[in-house]
Amino acid sequence: MWKFDGHVHSDASDGTDTAEELAAKAVRAQLDGFALTDHDVLPNRKILTSLERTHGIEIVPGIELSTSYRGRSTHLLAYLPQTESEELRQLLKNTRAAREERLREIVSRIGADYPSITWERLTLRHIEREGNTETPWGRPHVADLLVEEGIAPDRSAVFKTLLNHRGPYFVPQWAADPREAAEIVCEAGGAPILAHPFSGERQSALPTEIIGEMADAGLRGIERDHREHGPEQRQLVDHLAADLNLIVTGGSDYHGAGKPNRLGENLTAKSAVGQLLRLPNSGSI
Ligand code: AMP
Ligand code: ZN
Ligand code: FE
Ligand code: FE
Repeated sequence: MWKFDGHVHSDASDGTDTAEELAAKAVRAQLDGFALTDHDVLPNRKILTSLERTHGIEIVPGIELSTSYRGRSTHLLAYLPQTESEELRQLLKNTRAAREERLREIVSRIGADYPSITWERLTLRHIEREGNTETPWGRPHVADLLVEEGIAPDRSAVFKTLLNHRGPYFVPQWAADPREAAEIVCEAGGAPILAHPFSGERQSALPTEIIGEMADAGLRGIERDHREHGPEQRQLVDHLAADLNLIVTGGSDYHGAGKPNRLGENLTAKSAVGQLLRLPNSGSI
């Protein structure tokens, strides 16, 4: 069986593995390929192309865009074509700026109670590790610092308590409208896919009417097979996909050591990948 994991994160956003480590682990997990979908940051195509060659696997360059509908965080995966539009670049830049503003506020609120938690420490530690300044800052980065300081045992504990959306230090974040984001991805020649729409660990399930509106705006796929979807949610996705003519996908949402999700635990069918990438002979919907 051809095995493709449709949703994977690296340390370019809030995963803990480098792209190279991911490629090596994907081979070990007997995957034929995966989509690298870091939050709000464009993939490094040069590195991915070279990893494809050295490891003999397919790596689809992608992103997971943060969007927001009526205050509910909504994630939009996008498989990208060879070039990106200026509009998409600008959207990502604005989103990263909003991420930073929000994370600075979170850090300053935590810092009032735990003085060792400062923005300087957080960024220094991260930039030293990755050598980049385009980091899409998120709660996992603060969580890792809290773990390092012995304030929390691991990331998941932080997400259940201090930084939970009902937790004491939670701050909401601006993000683009999901319909607008889907349109921008389409215009850039990419394939927008709604990520884990009914994941129970979010604030609430995404209202189904907005999914129809996203389909009108160019949405092409919908993620069904995801750790946070049970049988009921998967059935609901199947119904929506049939009604709205969407391609069904699946992925692990692997974050390395930051989350229990295992690489390859959910997969996307070969025909679905072909259709999303508009490969010849993969049929069209
Ligand atoms: P934020 O982007 O700041 O809203 O943080 C939410 C992100 O943290 C989501 O994209 C999750 O995938 C990610 N995350 C990483 N590790 C964990 C974890 N252990 N528990 C929950 N979310 C996590
Ligand atoms: Zn993440
Ligand atoms: Fe997500
Ligand atoms: Fe994700």
